[in-house]
Amino acid sequence: MKSFSYSQAADVPSALQAIHGNPAAFFIGGGTNLVDLMKYGVEQPSHLIDIGKLPLADIEALPDGGVRIGALARNSDMANHPLIRERYPVLSEAILAGASPQLRNLATAGGNLMQRTRCYYFYDVGFTQCNKRNPGSGCAARDGINRIHAILGASDQCIATNPSDMSVALAAIGAIVQVQGESGPRSIPFAEFHRLPGDTPQVDTNLRKGELITSIDLPSLPAARNYCYLKVRDRRSYAFALVSVAAMVDVQNGKIREARFALGGVAHKPWRVPAAEKMLAGKEPNAAAFNAAAEVALHGARPYPDNAFKVPLARKSIVRALSEAVARGNGNGKLG
Ligand code: SF4
Repeated sequence: MKSFSYSQAADVPSALQAIHGNPAAFFIGGGTNLVDLMKYGVEQPSHLIDIGKLPLADIEALPDGGVRIGALARNSDMANHPLIRERYPVLSEAILAGASPQLRNLATAGGNLMQRTRCYYFYDVGFTQCNKRNPGSGCAARDGINRIHAILGASDQCIATNPSDMSVALAAIGAIVQVQGESGPRSIPFAEFHRLPGDTPQVDTNLRKGELITSIDLPSLPAARNYCYLKVRDRRSYAFALVSVAAMVDVQNGKIREARFALGGVAHKPWRVPAAEKMLAGKEPNAAAFNAAAEVALHGARPYPDNAFKVPLARKSIVRALSEAVARGNGNGKLG
């Protein structure tokens, strides 16, 4: 690991001041992904600014019925908090599907949004071809082993996926990411927070250099009690999703009033297609309607030799997650 200097920030202004004008400095919270990346030589910050002591760990109700999650709230605290379990159980279930208890006790909400892809070639610096790690070098995964890679929204430059379970639920919920920078605060709708790779796969998010995530705001959401987080993976625990689906369905008088769903494991960002959700409104909640929505959500899917299985897997996972969400709303399924 390359040597680096370290400082602790006492408050948000001093954290912003410490990173200003220092392009090789990184914020560190839980460090569960960043420290691995530093050990592997993928990231080589010259300075770490520890933000772990900033007063950003609260989880509190908002006056409009929503909830604000401080950026430094631990994943385990989020998953087990009464406000999250009661109002957004899909988020609780998604968080508990990720990592291990030890990692969830350390990882923060903001850090979860910033974790990087688990593409094998990105982590192994022995592979020289990786546009995300070394822009312009190529993409070893395109002609290599691409079983875990993207089927939607990829580019010729990069076919990596976003590994976060929590972000899939936040995408379906329609969260807002609050950030603070030198020029003041701003709000980023969740759909605009993560990026598709395009020609600049080295840039994962639309967070500007020097900006700090301060909270994640969840809107008031009547449909959120009828939910399912379905994660399909190679082994039952401590594995990243091949495909995952966060689904919420509000059914009234036998018709769908509102449906929301997002996919993980299929793209460089959580994959949510509003048109696929809208076509479910007013329909009876059955397999035919869910299959039609899945077709729209997966339109344009482009698999690679090792991951063609993800297209039918994603289609079936969408149908199953929506069906399970409806069953739970009817009291026929288990609630988390
Ligand atoms: Fe690198 Fe992206 Fe290609 Fe993986 S898929 S090797 S992260 S450029």
